[in-house]
Amino acid sequence: MDSQAPLSSELTIELFDDYVIPNYRRFPVSLARGEGAYVWDAEGNRYLDFFPGWGCNLLGHCPGPVVEAVRDQLGKLIHVPNTWYTELQGQWAKALSERSFGGQAFFCNSGTEANEAAIKLVRLHTPKSKYKIITFEGSFHGRTLGSTTATAQPKYHEGLGPLMAGFVYAPYGDIDAVAKLVDDETAAIMIEPIQGEGGVVVPPDGFLAGLRTLADENDLLLIFDEVQTGCGRTGEWFAYQYFDVTPDIMTLAKAICGGLAGAAMLTTPEIAPSLRPGMHAATFGGNPIAARAGIATIEMIEKENLLENARRLSQVFKTRLEELQQECDLVQDVRIVGLMIGVELGVEGAPIVKACMDRGLLVNCTHDTVIRLLPSMNLTEAQANEGCDVLAEAIKQHAGG
Ligand SMILES: *Cc1c(COP(=O)(O)O)cnc(C)c1O
Repeated sequence: MDSQAPLSSELTIELFDDYVIPNYRRFPVSLARGEGAYVWDAEGNRYLDFFPGWGCNLLGHCPGPVVEAVRDQLGKLIHVPNTWYTELQGQWAKALSERSFGGQAFFCNSGTEANEAAIKLVRLHTPKSKYKIITFEGSFHGRTLGSTTATAQPKYHEGLGPLMAGFVYAPYGDIDAVAKLVDDETAAIMIEPIQGEGGVVVPPDGFLAGLRTLADENDLLLIFDEVQTGCGRTGEWFAYQYFDVTPDIMTLAKAICGGLAGAAMLTTPEIAPSLRPGMHAATFGGNPIAARAGIATIEMIEKENLLENARRLSQVFKTRLEELQQECDLVQDVRIVGLMIGVELGVEGAPIVKACMDRGLLVNCTHDTVIRLLPSMNLTEAQANEGCDVLAEAIKQHAGG
């Protein structure tokens, strides 16, 4: 397979039409290869990727140290069940714990699974009469039924009812509204420190701290879904550190293994024992390949000073995009924390995404009107500027035409 020329995009699409369930809207392009900031399609066209792997490829495509570590691990031990100990899983948990709030980890394979673990932990840890979890309008927590119910966006619920009981929804950013929802049955508050799918929504000053206080006063668990914001995305290891508000439970996935599948839920040593033997599991959770990749990801970020690089790149994007906002009425708002970037257009963003793609730049549109960039933290400044040139050109042309 590998040595052959890739199948054309057209023929690959035919394969999909026949054999793959069509539950995704896809661009009519088959991607064949990636390296660093670039990805190539089956026809050999090169794209600068400002949305690599939907935020998973925070180290760019095929990051060398992760590739090497995984290659080595593949020949040693691929998978053993969690009825055994492996040093790698222990070392991975330690590495995450030391860079966060000193907690313990449960490993799984995807963001939604990490959130399901958090939801179950809440139910197991709190008294039976306390079961309600407050989540937020515009949120996104994943696609399994519990996480889908936690996701307070009606478009994701259509046709799926009855949903899981025990979730109540608050407007994002409104601390008084959250306080009003708290009653004797409330067990937890679950929130993305910055909303991703909801349009890169940054919390108003003091909001997360307000939730922390509210949780403390009412004996609630505070869960941060850092599936998108974690692992260096904000220029800190975790967004909670950026905002200086520490949760009781944190979920991680997307970038945690440098582009491989992996996820974790972290919680404090006081809460952790409530997830007792027999109550939760994930067959592939914390497997040796994921653990090797996870450790290599952390090591690469530190060796190459990538948190600092992310903060520096963030300034480049901020300057360029705020300039664009000045020049172009179409750009209504620029929201940026580290390398989590939203450009609010106020009109449909899909044509801009297409125009960028035609010019060799990959970006995303979320919440209909927000151009979202989740670039890799080892981008060069020249690449950041190159992509901003293309984006500016596409937006200005759209505004003019
Ligand atoms: C992507 C995402 C999820 C879901 O992750 P999967 O790995 O697709 O299950 C959950 N929460 C947030 C904040 C996300 O961005």
